Amino acid sequence: MRITFLGTGTSNGIPVVTCNCRVCRSQNPKNHRTRTSILIETATTTILVDSSPDLREQALREAISSIDAVLFTHAHADHTHGLDDLRPFCCGKSVYGYGDLNTIEDLRRRFDYVVDYRKWTPGRPRLMPKVVEPGQVLRIGDAEVLPVRIMHGEDPILGFRVEDFAYLTDCKSIPTESYPFLDGIKVVVLGALRYRRHPTHFSVAEAVEEAARIGAEATYLTHMCHDVEHEQLCDELPPAIRPAFDGLVLERHNGRLRQSAGRGSLRSFISE
Ligand SMILES: [Zn+2]
Ligand SMILES: [Zn+2]
Ligand SMILES: [Zn+2]
Repeated sequence: MRITFLGTGTSNGIPVVTCNCRVCRSQNPKNHRTRTSILIETATTTILVDSSPDLREQALREAISSIDAVLFTHAHADHTHGLDDLRPFCCGKSVYGYGDLNTIEDLRRRFDYVVDYRKWTPGRPRLMPKVVEPGQVLRIGDAEVLPVRIMHGEDPILGFRVEDFAYLTDCKSIPTESYPFLDGIKVVVLGALRYRRHPTHFSVAEAVEEAARIGAEATYLTHMCHDVEHEQLCDELPPAIRPAFDGLVLERHNGRLRQSAGRGSLRSFISE
């Protein structure tokens, strides 16, 4: 399995339009964050998690050639508004879109021409909606995906587990009943918006606390805003917790986690 971080930024994207802070002006490409999304590739299946407004740029950068399904964590704009850019992946076919009932209903309202098959015409993206339940495994090609209930402030949303990897973005708390589904996780991705507390997202300190509770070998932070400078955060965190960055790739080889910088612009090898 291969995980590619397509985007690691909060809803504004970094740099923030009109902002002149040190992170927004940074020349370090790791401080340039498109909207949060990942790509999961197994031997025969490619799954996109969320269709961010930066999907087009992300797909070009990482040379994505096909998408079999999209998993939606929730329907906020920064996780869905790239839906129209699924068009090139829908040539003569539809792409399955999995989400909880709230998310699918929201998508039906806002993207009727994508989700309602009666409105499909040539050239339009086609998403075949599928409602999923937390705790019920879904099979997508050769991948088994377990949706996990997490809380985005007051809103129940979904995280996803595939094998020993879990992706939990836009999370403020994890309900007690969800922890058994995270048993045996080796790599976890947690949203960490900023240093200050926020009503609907983990802060960096809360994500570090949660990482200890989950107890994975490696934790990566995502969905970061411009308060967070990449190198500074690397220095502040314990070694088993790293900030992700756009283009970061995680692959497991012979049980070891290998981190590299993807097919995109940051090609140089980082660590093994
Ligand atoms: Zn800024
Ligand atoms: Zn959100
Ligand atoms: Zn978000």
